[in-house]
Amino acid sequence: MSARVLVVDDVIPNVKLLEAKLTSEYFDVVTANSGEEALARVAEDAPDIILLDVMMPGMDGFEVCRRLKANADTMHIPVIMVTALDHPRDRVNGLEAGADDFLTKPVQDLPLFARVRSLVRLKMLTDELRMRETTGQNLGFEASGYLDGSIEVSDAKILLIEDYERVAKRVSGHLEEIGQVTINDGQSDIQDLANRESFDLIIVSLGLKEMDGLRICSNVRSLETIRHLPLLVLVDEGDSQQLIRALEIGVNDYLVRPIDRLELLARAKTQVRRKRYSEQLRQNMHMNFKMAMTDAVTGLYNRHFLYNHLDTLIRSVEGTDKKVSVMMMDLDHFKAVNDQYGHGAGDEVLKELGHRISQNIRGVDMAARYGGEEFVVMMPDTDVDFAAGIAERLRASVSDTPFMVGGVEGGLAVTVSIGLACTDMGFVSSKDLLNGADKALYSAKGEGRNRVCLYGPEVRELG
Ligand code: GH3
Ligand code: MG
Ligand code: MG
Repeated sequence: MSARVLVVDDVIPNVKLLEAKLTSEYFDVVTANSGEEALARVAEDAPDIILLDVMMPGMDGFEVCRRLKANADTMHIPVIMVTALDHPRDRVNGLEAGADDFLTKPVQDLPLFARVRSLVRLKMLTDELRMRETTGQNLGFEASGYLDGSIEVSDAKILLIEDYERVAKRVSGHLEEIGQVTINDGQSDIQDLANRESFDLIIVSLGLKEMDGLRICSNVRSLETIRHLPLLVLVDEGDSQQLIRALEIGVNDYLVRPIDRLELLARAKTQVRRKRYSEQLRQNMHMNFKMAMTDAVTGLYNRHFLYNHLDTLIRSVEGTDKKVSVMMMDLDHFKAVNDQYGHGAGDEVLKELGHRISQNIRGVDMAARYGGEEFVVMMPDTDVDFAAGIAERLRASVSDTPFMVGGVEGGLAVTVSIGLACTDMGFVSSKDLLNGADKALYSAKGEGRNRVCLYGPEVRELG
């Protein structure tokens, strides 16, 4: 992972020092000596992270940070403010300007590397999700709209692990305005707690009386269902050993005691925002995949998916004695349903038919809506005799029970015609196989509908 770091400071020796440290750890370093230059470098070099000095003549670090965070193209780049030790207010001002973290001068090596690595990791993940979202948008899906860092955080669910009652009360009091805090002494099963409540953030004290806070953190990171949750740890001032280990374990952020209320709030908010943002992206991605594969009316797979999947299926049985069968199905006299009961009722019939298809095929079979009122069922590892049995069962399940749609009393009598074809009939591509099934369907229509026909030189009717 060779991440590009932009180091900004008006004092040249400071820049040189950080540059040397980061280069020795194989980071790719670019530098700037003023706020204005920093903005230009960001536009030109697209850094993965920025180390930003606060006090600079002209445009100071806060202003640079505010501008970066207000720009949709740059708001995702993590910013670490580098502040002077004797200006504690700078931390809060920095966080309010949108900074993701801060380091105090003189900058120590281990916290520096750990912070940079952890933020770069987070950025890579977010970049990946954003890229997928862009692809989704190009395909015509809606943006998640969660990119805006200014979204207010409320109703956050926070788990606080702290066994000093007084401290726990104070910390949870600070967090009240952004949500609800569950306090635990760290002796409960953490997975159990997380199953009961869907937390947005876990805060762990590294100075517990009874338990090892680090162990709790590593536990969280190793559990499949909660490893993605943001972890914020509370460490004692000067305890850099614990802090470094925590960062190595993969905690997302830390606070040094004594805890400053504003700083706590700012950091908790950042973590909750990030968590909700990636969650939203993931959900959208899932939706996009689903929409790209399925038909909205019936919930079955769409034609695009069908072609791709059928090709894959046929290729997988090439050179084996396995067979793939396909049925093509068409509603009988469907135009009359639309004409008599309206298009809405017609849609309901399609939906109910989709349902009956799903009910009557096996788990391994896959059903797709092929066209307006045409459906295809793919049956892997299935010879034509077996396929005929499934087709006949499906045909009967449609004709035997009226469709309760459009408020028609007693329901609507619906029938389907089905054509069947199988790879052992000499078909080598999905197109051929579907053509074969279509020909058989045509025979079924010709023979009087509501029946199943097999592909072949002569009409072979079933049932
Ligand atoms: P056949 O037994 O020969 O298949 O007769 P048919 O009336 O079913 O066939 P035809 O091809 O003449 O008409 C198909 C009808 O399907 C016409 C069209 O309006 C209807 N249709 C296609 N897609 C949809 C849809 O999404 N919703 C509704 N309600 N109707 C649809
Ligand atoms: Mg300065
Ligand atoms: Mg029809």
